Amino acid sequence: MLQLSEVSHWRRVLRTNFTNWRELSAFLELDEQQQSEIAIRPDFPLNLPHRLAQKIAKGTLDDPILRQFLPTHSEAKVLPGFAADPVGDEHCQKTTKLLQKYRGRVLLVCTSACAMHCRYCFRQNFDYDVELKGFANELEQIAADPSIREVILSGGDPLSLSDAILEGLIQDLASIPHLRRLRFHTRFPIGIPERIDQSFLGLLERVPLQTWFVIHANHPRELDEDVLGALQQLQRRGVTILNQAVLLKGVNDSADVLSELSERLVDNGILPYYLHQLDRVQGSGHFEVPEAEGHALIDELQKRLSGYAVPKYVREVAGESSKRLL
Ligand code: SF4
Repeated sequence: MLQLSEVSHWRRVLRTNFTNWRELSAFLELDEQQQSEIAIRPDFPLNLPHRLAQKIAKGTLDDPILRQFLPTHSEAKVLPGFAADPVGDEHCQKTTKLLQKYRGRVLLVCTSACAMHCRYCFRQNFDYDVELKGFANELEQIAADPSIREVILSGGDPLSLSDAILEGLIQDLASIPHLRRLRFHTRFPIGIPERIDQSFLGLLERVPLQTWFVIHANHPRELDEDVLGALQQLQRRGVTILNQAVLLKGVNDSADVLSELSERLVDNGILPYYLHQLDRVQGSGHFEVPEAEGHALIDELQKRLSGYAVPKYVREVAGESSKRLL
């Protein structure tokens, strides 16, 4: 067992996450009526980094950051068109951890763990293979298919893994001659920027593949100076960073919020890549914004922002050969 002094700082920060609704309610000064709205979801419990909790307004459930992380009774509503696996992950599995949806790239579900639990997460019901058997099957599949140019490390959140496991995996991937690019899909630095520490940066410097990060920020308040500072450390090492956001009712369904998010990203050299229409996972109906409203928001962003600052408005449709541009 590791001694306390050997535990990475970011893991100690992770342990301060709010996972108990009573403690979070006290911290946010929620009254009894507000607390009665909170639901207990043992299968997908509350998990909220302290940093994000500190950005939430006290005494209200309507804060755009809180809405993304607080389990409420709205999640129990059964709505037509909403499903456990809305994007058809199950039908794209080459192994329990390797998914291929699109030509030339594969997605490695390398962990079930995340730094936070987003209530609209389309992978909240995914049947994760959590056995610590390594990635031999997946590496074999990737090595056998020369059409694969890019591997996306996803999960869960790949930055939940230790640097030792990540480095082993990445070096194994880098030894496959036809691989060109490595892409991290991560929300970790938004809640725990401490994850981008010297050890991780050193690891990245040893990666012989071109490296991309796709982060996930939905609201400009998520991007504070520490978060942006951590992302700049990646950029200084040649990593290209893109952002994908999900259009969420009560969070970012306003032209003011979305344009501020884009401005903040672009000011820091991060491209606003996608604005996703909600994946219709069971229990997330209260977040859905009608597509017509999404179009109106994009029209407004086009009037306000440079073209490169307007994200592509997309929906993932199970079985299609790419994301559908809306
Ligand atoms: S961080 Fe990503 S994978 Fe984890 S719960 Fe949020 S959306 Fe899902």
